[in-house]
Amino acid sequence: MPTLLGIPLDVNSSYLRGPASAPAKIREALRCDASNKWTELGVDLAAAGALADAGDLPLKNLRENVGDDFAEIERAVGELLEQGERPVSLGGDHSVTYPILKALARRYPELTIVHFDAHPDLYEEFEGRRLSHACPFARIMEERLAKWLVQVGIRTMNGHQREQAAKFGVEVVEMRALPAYERLKIHGLVYISFDMDALDPAFAPGVSHREPGGMTVREAIAHLHAIEGTIVGADIVEYNPVQDVSGMTATVAAKILKEILGKMIAG
Ligand code: MN
Ligand code: MN
Repeated sequence: MPTLLGIPLDVNSSYLRGPASAPAKIREALRCDASNKWTELGVDLAAAGALADAGDLPLKNLRENVGDDFAEIERAVGELLEQGERPVSLGGDHSVTYPILKALARRYPELTIVHFDAHPDLYEEFEGRRLSHACPFARIMEERLAKWLVQVGIRTMNGHQREQAAKFGVEVVEMRALPAYERLKIHGLVYISFDMDALDPAFAPGVSHREPGGMTVREAIAHLHAIEGTIVGADIVEYNPVQDVSGMTATVAAKILKEILGKMIAG
C-alpha cells in the first residue's frame, strides 16, 4: 500500500533552507478536519488499509553528513520496497529524489519518471556541488536509474540544461506547451516527482524559488489524473514552510498528495 515517509533534509538547497520542516506541515494539512479524506477519484484515504505512514527519517541534515543521509534515505526506501509497499515521500529539497531512485531502480529497472517542476534540475553541477537540488535528474539519468524522464511545467530552461536534456534524451514539456495529457499515457511503471514550484506562486507561495507563470492547482491535478501506467512511488518536494502564507501551500501540498494517493490506489 502507499506508505508516507518524511524526509527532513534541506542542506542541498542553493538559495533558502526550509523544506526540512515540510513533512510535519503536510501531514497536519492532510489530517485537517477542514476537508474529508476522499480523493476526487473516489478513494477514501481514511479506510482501513488504504494508507500507511513510516514516520520521518532520523537525518542529521548537515552538509558534511549528506552522504550518510542519502544512504539512510536509500536504505529506508529499499526497506519499504522489500515489504511490498509503495513509498510516497514528503519533504526535502529536490536532491532527495536521487537516493530514492537509487533504491527504486534496483527493484524496478524500467521506470518512467514523471517530473513536475518549474526547473529541469539537470545541472551537471551547481555552485560546485553535484548533489545540489539543481542536479538530481542529471545524476539519475547518467546512472540510468530510470528508462525515461518526462518533465512537465518547465519554464526556466537555459542553454546548459537544454544540452543536458538532449544528452540524456529527456522529454521536456515546457509550461507554455500545456496541456499535455497525451504525453502522460505511459506504459509500464511510473514514479512521480512533484516539485511544489511547478505550481504558480499565486497558488503555492511556500517554495524557495518562486517562478511565476506556473500551473494552477487544477492543471496539476488534471495532469496527475491523466497519467497512465502503474505508479510505484512518488515524492512531494520543495515545500518551504518558511516562505508560506497562512499555511496555504501546505493545504495545496496535501491536496496534491491526496490526488497522487487516490491515483495510486484507484489505478
Ligand atoms: Mn526541482
Ligand atoms: Mn523547482
